[in-house]
Amino acid sequence: MSTTTAGSAATLSAVEELTTLPLRGENPYIRDWKESGGRVFGYTCSYVPEEILYAEGQSSRILPIRLGAQGATTMDDADIHMHKFLCTYCRCVMQLALTGEYDFLDGVVLTNGCEHMRRTFEIWRDQVEPPFVSMLSVPHRRDGDTQIQWYCDEITKLIDEIGKKYGYLPSKESLRSAVRTYNRYRELMQELYALRSIDHPKLSGVEAMQIAQAGFSMPKDAFNEKLAEAIQELDAKPGIKDARARIMVGGSYIDDPWFIEIIESTGAVVVTDVLCTGRKYVEGMVDETIDPVEAIARRYFLRDPSCPRMVDGYPERIAFTKKLAQEAKVDGVIFERITFCDSHTVENLMEGEDIEELDIPTLSLEREYLGGDKGRLKTRVQAFLEKIGK
Ligand code: SF4
Repeated sequence: MSTTTAGSAATLSAVEELTTLPLRGENPYIRDWKESGGRVFGYTCSYVPEEILYAEGQSSRILPIRLGAQGATTMDDADIHMHKFLCTYCRCVMQLALTGEYDFLDGVVLTNGCEHMRRTFEIWRDQVEPPFVSMLSVPHRRDGDTQIQWYCDEITKLIDEIGKKYGYLPSKESLRSAVRTYNRYRELMQELYALRSIDHPKLSGVEAMQIAQAGFSMPKDAFNEKLAEAIQELDAKPGIKDARARIMVGGSYIDDPWFIEIIESTGAVVVTDVLCTGRKYVEGMVDETIDPVEAIARRYFLRDPSCPRMVDGYPERIAFTKKLAQEAKVDGVIFERITFCDSHTVENLMEGEDIEELDIPTLSLEREYLGGDKGRLKTRVQAFLEKIGK
């Protein structure tokens, strides 16, 4: 299956290509993959084990892409099916699905990450009717063998379901190969994030998010090649010396960098984050010495930091946030949450209090996915920076 760059990307530097990659069906890697007979599956939640989808199968290969909603401008169609008290990320993703933006998908795998996402699954299944759709049921507690066995069984069920539909059964060796590719991806992404949190960051928070998003929509082998090049290009740059303040961001799902852009439009730089689309996503390697299905299950389900959807795991989550904040020498932490996002409403409050104990000031902001109130948010960030003397 060809994973090299298509079209005009050849003239761009690796950083330029990864920070300007077209979205969804316009993405040359996705188009290439489909034209070469591959299938593309969409997923949303960080508890969907990408390696299980990406591993070579008998009939064809699957490219897992993480579903964002960049470019959405309305939720009119989604709001016919979804309650207005559901999070606007879910409603925007649904809007794109209902209006054909995700028609290129051969399958969709969602989870019970939260009740908003569970409802999204039902409408996607019943109203969009993709060729394949599955719900990965993930327990909300991790302590006890029953739960890890439950998650393992869900992965096995997913493999069987895809096998029935597409005759897809990954071998142990192909799973091990996918694990090696994805562990390399995590290593490289951690290297990239380290270039953000040094005294003179080699890239902005917006660039880091654009590169991470490219990683969510490219074959990981091709992405790893490009990312290694991009890291060299970035490392050769002088770095940002005039940052007004060093900021960390945490909270609800972000795939559209506009929120980071607002913070950085004040002169601050977002030098690290604890987002499930950012630094958190690449924490924790898959053990390459045990059975690959069990290893993948253990890494995804038992990893720390977990998602605040988990009843347990808060001490590990706050410890990770504190470690990153101190390593990156941040001047402040901005916690954002999408309106009605239950998981982060509570988590942001708790983490905010604990981070303040380190004498690191925090700001908690509520927002919508579409960003209709950028002016208000920028004013809040400006006021916060002035309050902390920046
Ligand atoms: S942003 Fe919050 S409410 Fe929306 S899908 Fe994620 S966890 Fe659920």
